Amino acid sequence: MTDGARPATRPGRTPREVATHCPYCALQCGMTLREDDAGVSVLPRQFPTNRGGLCQKGWTSAELLDHPDRLTTPLLRDPVTGELRPATWDAALDRVASGLRAIQDSSGRDAVAVFGGGGLTNEKAYALGKFARVALRTRNIDYNGRFCMSSAAAAGLRAFGVDRGLPFPLSDLGRADTLLLVGANPAETMPPLVRWLTEQRRGGGQLIVVDPRVTATARQADLHLQPLPGTDLAVANALLHIALTEGWVDQAYVAERTNGFDAVRRSVAAWWPARAEQLSGVPVADLEATARALGTGGRVIILTARGAEQHAKGVDTVSAYVNLALALGLPGREGSGYGCLTGQGNGQGGREHGQKADQLPGYRKIDDPAAREHVAGVWGVPADDLPGPGVPAYQLLDSLGTADGPRALLVFGSNPVVSAPRAARIEGRLRDLDLLVVADLLLSETAALADVVLPTAQWAEEDGTMTNLEGRVLRRRALRPPPPGVRTDLAILADLAARLAPDQEAATVAAARFPVDPATVFAELRRASAGGVADYAGIDWARIDDADGVFWPCPSEDGPDTPRLFADRFGTPDGRARFHAVDHRPAAEEVCATYPLHFTTGRVLAQYQSGTQTRRVAALRRAAPEAFVELHPDLAARLGIDDGDPVRVTSRRGELRAPARLSAGIRPDTVFAPFHWPGAGRANSVTNDAVDPISGMPEFKICAVRVEKA
Ligand code: SF4
Repeated sequence: MTDGARPATRPGRTPREVATHCPYCALQCGMTLREDDAGVSVLPRQFPTNRGGLCQKGWTSAELLDHPDRLTTPLLRDPVTGELRPATWDAALDRVASGLRAIQDSSGRDAVAVFGGGGLTNEKAYALGKFARVALRTRNIDYNGRFCMSSAAAAGLRAFGVDRGLPFPLSDLGRADTLLLVGANPAETMPPLVRWLTEQRRGGGQLIVVDPRVTATARQADLHLQPLPGTDLAVANALLHIALTEGWVDQAYVAERTNGFDAVRRSVAAWWPARAEQLSGVPVADLEATARALGTGGRVIILTARGAEQHAKGVDTVSAYVNLALALGLPGREGSGYGCLTGQGNGQGGREHGQKADQLPGYRKIDDPAAREHVAGVWGVPADDLPGPGVPAYQLLDSLGTADGPRALLVFGSNPVVSAPRAARIEGRLRDLDLLVVADLLLSETAALADVVLPTAQWAEEDGTMTNLEGRVLRRRALRPPPPGVRTDLAILADLAARLAPDQEAATVAAARFPVDPATVFAELRRASAGGVADYAGIDWARIDDADGVFWPCPSEDGPDTPRLFADRFGTPDGRARFHAVDHRPAAEEVCATYPLHFTTGRVLAQYQSGTQTRRVAALRRAAPEAFVELHPDLAARLGIDDGDPVRVTSRRGELRAPARLSAGIRPDTVFAPFHWPGAGRANSVTNDAVDPISGMPEFKICAVRVEKA
C-alpha cells in the first residue's frame, strides 16, 4: 500500500484505495482511486480546491489504465518496411543511445534536443532538465508549456519578480466583490472551479467576463464584454484610462509599492473609451461599468487565461491587466489581486525546475553565475560544464532537421504534431530528423512518427508531486505498479544516462546521478531549488500529506509556507512592483480580401489538450466526437452554410475541414475551432506561428482565414 492509501475490507482480492489527484488540468482536483475485482474506479474526495467535485474528464480518467491502446513494449522503426515493430528494452535503449552518441559526435552536443511537457511531475521535469544539461550537455531543451502559460509567466516575472499563477488560494475567488475573467472559460476547462464563481455571486459579488465568444462562463456573467479577438490590451488600457479619470487609482499604494506608473499614466491617456470601443467593439457603457466595478468594488480579483495570453503581444496584454490591478492597489491586498489560470496539470511546477530553455531548478536563470554554481554543486558537476540558454519551443521545433538545427529529438509527455502552431510545418520538421524518440503511454500522433517509441507509466502507476494553479505542491500517489513491459520516465532517463557514458565507471556514476525513486529525486530537487524564487527546500512529502499541499516558497522545514504572496513586498530587488507601459498593436496577421475572417482556437469540456488520452475515453468521445467549426448564423447564411455542413477553413498556412456548428454566441466576423483533434480537423494546421518576442508564445488565438462549404 502506498502512502495515503487506506485498507479496504472487501473479501477476495484485497481492494485498495489511494488518495490522489486527477491526471489532467492545473486545478488538480483531489480524487480517490479504488481498485477491486471490478477494476479501478474514481471516487470523489474532499480537497480544498475542488471540494469533492470533478469534471467528466476526471470521472473517466481511470479508463486509460487498462486501455487496449496502451503501449506495453518499446517500438522500433523497421529500416526496410518503415513500420514500427515491437522490440526489447535493451534493443530500443541501445538504438537511442548509439544514435544520440553518433549524432553528437558528428554534429556537436546541441544537435540533440529535448522536448518536455507541462503534465510531467515535478520530479520528472527536474530530471529531464538535468538529463539535458548533464547527460547530453545540450542547450536545446524546452517544453509545451511554452504554448500555454508563458506570456503570463513573463508578465508576472517582470512586474512582480515572481511567477506563480495565483498568488493567493483559489478560495479567495469565492469572496471577491468583483471578479474579472479575461479570456478564461473555466466552465468548460475546469468546471469544479465554477463552484467558487457561484459562491461569489451568491454572496453578492459581480462576475465580469471578457471573451469574443458567449462561452459557458460568459453566460453566467453579470456583464460580458465581447471584444474583437486581439484587442484585450486596448480594453485594459481603456479601463485604466477611466479609472484614472474617475479618481479610482490607489495613489498611496502606487507611491509606496510600485515603480513606473508615470509612463503608464501617459500611455493610457490616449485610450479614451470611445477609441477602445471603435477598435474592440465593446460599448463605452460596458467599459465604464466594468471600470466602476473594479475601481469601487472592495475585494477585486483580475484573472487572465489563454484568450488574453496566446498572442504575439501576449506579454504586453497581460501586463496591461497587471497595470490595471497595480493601479487599483490589488496585488498583496487580502482577498484581491491579479492571477493567471494555469492550464496544464503541472503547468506551474513544470516551469519551475529546469525544462525551460533558460532555466535551472527553483526558477533560477541559467545565465546567472550564482545559480549555475549552486545547481552544478547539487548535481556534482563543474558549473562551466552546464550549457547556456537554448531557444523557446516553437523556435526549437522549427529548427529541427534544418542545416543548423538539431538532428535528434527526445520527446517526453508532449504531442506537438497536434498542439504546435502551423502544425504541418512542425510535422515536416519532425520527419526531417535523423532520430526521433518519443516516450508516451499511447501512440500519439507524434509517437507515430518516431524512430523509437518508449512505453511509459501513467499517473496512477507512479508517485510524485504536482504544483497546481495556486502554487500548492501536491502528492500524486501510485495505486499500482506499471504493467509488465512499461517503465517510468525516471527509469528511462537513468538507463539512457548510463548507456551514454563512455565507459563502465562513468556509467556507474551516471546511473547514480539519475535516481529512479521519485522521493529521492524530490529530495534532490529541494536542495537544487533552495534559495531560488520557487523554493521547495522546506517541503517534504509527509508535510504535503499533513496539510493538503504546501504553497511555495517554503524555504524551511520549520517555517511556514506561503499561501499568499506580496503582502509586504514583491519579489523584485527593491521589493516594489514594476509597471510597464504597453500599447495595442495589430495581430501578426490581419484580415484581408482573401482571408476576411478572424480565426480563434480553444477547448471543449470533454477533451484535454492534444486529445491523446481523452479521445480514447468512450464517454468523452461520445460527448465530443470530432472537431467542428463554430460560426455565427448570419455569417453562415452569407456563405450558404447550414448547421452540420462540412466546411473548409483556410489560412495562408493550411486548412481545416470539419462540420459547421452554428452559434449566435460568436461574433459574425470570427470563427472558432477546438484544437484537440489531428488529421483533417486539426485546428493547428491553420494557426499562425508568429510568436511573442518576450515569451515565445505563439499566436494561437488569432489569424486570418476564409471559410467555405467543403
Ligand atoms: S477540472 Fe481539471 S483536474 Fe478537475 S477533474 Fe476536470 S480535468 Fe481533472
